[in-house]
Amino acid sequence: MQEHEHRCGCGGAGCSGEQHVEATGGCTGSGCVGHAGHGEHAGRGGHGDHDASGLGGGTETPVRMAGRVGAKLVVLSGKGGVGKSTVAVNLAVGLARTGRKVGLLDVDVHGPSVPRMLGLGRARPVAGEGWMAPVSAGPNLRVMSLGFFLPDPEVPVIWRGPVKMGMVRQFLVDVRWGDLDVLVVDCPPGTGDEPLSVLQLLGPDAHAVIVTTPQGVAVDDVRRSVGFCRQLGNPILGIVENMGGYVCPKCGELTPLFPAGGGEQLARETGVAFLGSIPLHPDLTSAGDAGRSLLEADLSAGHEPVHPVIRAFQPVVGAAGTVCPTGDSEAPGRSASEIPARDNGGPAPQGASNMKIAIPLAAGRLCQHFGHCEQFAVLTVDPDDGTVKGQELLTPPPHEPGVLPAWIADTGTRLVIAGGMGARARQLLEERGVQVLVGASAADPADLVAAWFGNRLELGANTCDH
Ligand code: ADP
Repeated sequence: MQEHEHRCGCGGAGCSGEQHVEATGGCTGSGCVGHAGHGEHAGRGGHGDHDASGLGGGTETPVRMAGRVGAKLVVLSGKGGVGKSTVAVNLAVGLARTGRKVGLLDVDVHGPSVPRMLGLGRARPVAGEGWMAPVSAGPNLRVMSLGFFLPDPEVPVIWRGPVKMGMVRQFLVDVRWGDLDVLVVDCPPGTGDEPLSVLQLLGPDAHAVIVTTPQGVAVDDVRRSVGFCRQLGNPILGIVENMGGYVCPKCGELTPLFPAGGGEQLARETGVAFLGSIPLHPDLTSAGDAGRSLLEADLSAGHEPVHPVIRAFQPVVGAAGTVCPTGDSEAPGRSASEIPARDNGGPAPQGASNMKIAIPLAAGRLCQHFGHCEQFAVLTVDPDDGTVKGQELLTPPPHEPGVLPAWIADTGTRLVIAGGMGARARQLLEERGVQVLVGASAADPADLVAAWFGNRLELGANTCDH
C-alpha cells in the first residue's frame, strides 16, 4: 500500500474524526479512501488557487473520470432529512430500469445511507492498489459510497474538508465505474464548502436536481440552492418536492400535509422546472429500511405503474432521462480479452495489481449451486482493462459448512460471481473481504467476467439460498 498521511481520530494531523477509513479499517482491499494525499491522484483533481464561483472557500477543479460518463446528475438539498438520498437512490434505480448504465455515488459524508437503502450494508468493494470496483446493485446499477468503508455505520464521520474532498476525488478517479450513461451523485446537504467542492469536482456540466419539502420554511433553502448552482454555472434540471402529501396505504387517498403546490410554486418563483411531487408513503420508508427500492417496476414508456410512489417518480425519472443519453455505452458480445485497455482515454490507475475472480462451475459453465459445484474457475484478471491473464480450474474441498468460503478466500479471490448462494456462505465470504454477486446466469466464465467489466452483467434472483 502506498504511504499516506494518517488522518483519523487517533491524533493524526488532518482529522478530528472518530472513524478513519483505510485499508485496515473498513476497506477490504489494499486501496484506501479518505486520504487527501493518496498516491498519484491526490494532485490530479488539482487545488486551483482561483475560486471562480464567487462563493468563497471552494478551490477544487473538475476531475476527469476514467470512463465515459454520458451525464452527471447531482442531487442536492438545502438541508438534511428532506429525502435527498431517497430521491437519489430511486432516481438511479429508475434510470437503470430504463436500460441506462447508471453509477450511483454517495458522497453525503454526514450520513452515507445509500448502502442501507439498497440492501448493500455488508458489501465491501473489491479494491487494489490505486483502484476500487463499485458494488453492483442489480442490472445496470453500480454503487460507491463512503458507507462501504465505515467499520461502524452508527458512529458519525467527522473529517476536515481536505480529507473529505480527497475521498470524493478518489471516488471519481480511482473507482472503475466503466462506461456510464449517467452518474447520479448524492451530495452533502446545504450550500457550504462540502457541496461546493463536490460540484466543483464534478464540473459545470453536472445537472442539479434540488430536493425540497413543500412547507414555507423550505423557500429560503431552495432559493439558496438555486443561487448556489447558478453561481457555479451548473444547469438546474429542476426541483423535486418530497413528502408532498400523505398517501393512505389503505385507501390510497392523498392528504396534503402542508398547503398543496408548495414545491411547484417554489419552482415558479425561482424560475426552475418542477419535476414532480413524491408523496409521504410508509412503503417508501419501509423499502428504504429493508434495503430495496420501490422502483422495481418497468419505467419505460408505455408501462403504467400502480403504486403511487412509483407513479410519482415516473416524471422525475423521465425528466432526468432527457439529459442522459441512452444505451450507447453498451458493448454487447465483447469477451474479456477484447475489452480495450482504457478505451476512453482516461488515466490508468497506478500500480494496479491482478485481481482474482472465482466462478462455480458445472460442465464448464457457471453452476447455479455454489455449495455443490464440481469445480471453480479462478480467473486472474487485469483490473485495468478486464483482460483475462490466466484461468485455473480448482476442485473444491468436500462440502461442509463454512469450509468453502474460507477455501475461496485463501485462493486470493476478490470477487465471486455465482448463481445462488446461501446467506451464511455469503456472509463468511464478505467477512473475508470477498465481494459476492448472486443471480448470474449459467454462462461461460470469461463471458461473465467480460460482462462485469463492461458494466452489463445481468443479475437476477439468488437461485439457491441454501
Ligand atoms: P436526506 O438524504 O435528505 O437526509 P433521506 O432520503 O435519508 O433524507 O430520508 C430520511 C428518512 O425519511 C429515511 O428514513 C427515508 O426512508 C424517509 N423518507 C424520505 N422520503 C420519504 C417519503 N416520501 N415517504 C416516506 N418516507 C420517506
